[in-house]
Amino acid sequence: MRSFWKMKLTGIFIALLLAISGCSSNAVPTTSTASAAEQHQTQTQDQQTATSNDTAPTTVVPGQKLKVSYIDVGQADSILIQIPNGKNVLIDAGNNGDANAITSYLKKQDVSKLDIVIATHPHEDHIGSMDTQIKTFDIGQVIMPKKDSTTQTYKDLITAIQNKGLKITEAKAGLELDLGSEVNALLLAPNSANYEDVNNYSAVLKLSYGTNTFLFEGDAQEQSENEMINAGYNLKSDVLKVGHHGSNTSSTTAFLTKVQPKYAVISVGKGNSYGHPANVTMDSLTNIGAKVYRADLSGTIVAESDGTNITINTIATEVQPRAPTPTVSQSVAPVSVAPAPAQATASTNSTVKSTPTPTSSTGLVCIMYIIQKPRNSIFLHVHICQLQIRPIRSLLEKL
Ligand SMILES: [Zn+2]
Repeated sequence: MRSFWKMKLTGIFIALLLAISGCSSNAVPTTSTASAAEQHQTQTQDQQTATSNDTAPTTVVPGQKLKVSYIDVGQADSILIQIPNGKNVLIDAGNNGDANAITSYLKKQDVSKLDIVIATHPHEDHIGSMDTQIKTFDIGQVIMPKKDSTTQTYKDLITAIQNKGLKITEAKAGLELDLGSEVNALLLAPNSANYEDVNNYSAVLKLSYGTNTFLFEGDAQEQSENEMINAGYNLKSDVLKVGHHGSNTSSTTAFLTKVQPKYAVISVGKGNSYGHPANVTMDSLTNIGAKVYRADLSGTIVAESDGTNITINTIATEVQPRAPTPTVSQSVAPVSVAPAPAQATASTNSTVKSTPTPTSSTGLVCIMYIIQKPRNSIFLHVHICQLQIRPIRSLLEKL
């Protein structure tokens, strides 16, 4: 029975791929890719490659606290780091639809300037509202990996950067961030110039305050994790922002053994269709002795460090119900599918929130089905382009 459905689903998958020929993945470059790449390249500053490969403890003024907010943006990432000297860092900015929630959260924290923004990699669930945040706040430095995208979201980000006269500093391992003497901040990845999987371009930041350490992985996967190990970085960190929303593509035993996290934060959407976090990741984190905090269970998670001790607050917000959003592939190319309803249900236990963008084509939907087989089961993954969806069932009936 299982094999029948496997064949049936595989057939549907192939049929959909043929039918949806306009829905390109990041692996398929277009002419606009080259254009965006050129824009990015011309803006890339000379690198300040660090000679050190570690983040040493810092001197802390008693009573001053470092605050890290893992903002609940569902199946996406957005993290605000507030340093006692008043400097602020924003790592990623959720999906396009998270713009107001993130802006509002930052303003509630009295943020007026983002001294550094890091767009870990050009997937929409990480750079979605970065253009809005750049327009809204004073910006010091923009750090991004040298990897472009064909998406409108990426183009919007580049436009926002250009319109503000900002330069892009290329994210790569060894780059030290200048945030004052209170903290040490060092990028540990990416360590290579080219990756097959866009997630591995993720900028990975290690931050030290006093003797406390934080590691922010973005969506770095096994390949990048192995490179960080092989590069000899001191990965040991008190708090780990788990890679790729707790997917089984990240958090290898070898990596977690090096990190030895006391706390692990997973930025994951309630009822997401990817099955994140993966059971194997949860088991690995538990086995390593980490206390796990999940956005889908706790909402926004706030960690505060006095330089010696870390406290974590998980009652800052209610959990945001959020639609599954593209993390594997994204495209702005619409396909010839009938207009979709503004709101629909993708699975029985997830509420889907439509997040239209001004740049999307009228009512056109791009859906890609990806079949994976983790642990002998089949999950039907729905990838939504241009942020509207239609029910799976009605689409299947038309085939
Ligand atoms: Zn992601």
